[in-house]
Amino acid sequence: MILLSLWSFSIMYCGGRAAMQAFDGAGGREKRGFDRKSTPAIAMEAHFCYAAKDKRREQNMVRPIVKDVLLLGRRAEAAVEADLPVVQDLMDTLRAHTGHCVGLAANMIGVNKRIIVVDGGGVPFPMLNPVIRKRRGEPYEAEEGCLSHSGTRRTLRYPFIEVEFQNLSLQTCRQRYSGFLAQIIQHELDHCEGVLI
Ligand SMILES: [Zn+2]
Repeated sequence: MILLSLWSFSIMYCGGRAAMQAFDGAGGREKRGFDRKSTPAIAMEAHFCYAAKDKRREQNMVRPIVKDVLLLGRRAEAAVEADLPVVQDLMDTLRAHTGHCVGLAANMIGVNKRIIVVDGGGVPFPMLNPVIRKRRGEPYEAEEGCLSHSGTRRTLRYPFIEVEFQNLSLQTCRQRYSGFLAQIIQHELDHCEGVLI
């Protein structure tokens, strides 16, 4: 029991099952100091701009989730301007899994590019070519589910990260994240590296 109290348990989804939704609740977030205000305004703004410009909006581009470990085990390649339509596919697919999915990486829908979308409880936002530049705080043990595999797995996450990424205008941004948002981003970045927790 003493040992258990030393760990910070949490479950995060890049997907998952209905039975695990409780871990997406307020209790878990408060325990880790989840801060909705950490959602980057610049990324959200970029998303809205892109959605308005996307001529395919009348089409719902929900893609099937890849579960092939060989495909998922490949390191994703850098995203370029021509890959921007993938963002909308990711957004549509994320929306299709609302309630049990808080993030997706492009290789989960069969596109091996460094693009992720994140939904930490506010407005979902995309990141192109994200790289973690700083990790802060004591790593904690998290238990995470994923649409690409069944069950949950434990892994270590940092409570604070600083991420460099490109927005939908391909401008380079740098943003700090904490708590649940930081956990989601770390999970999706693992996907970009071909790492399945
Ligand atoms: Zn995942």
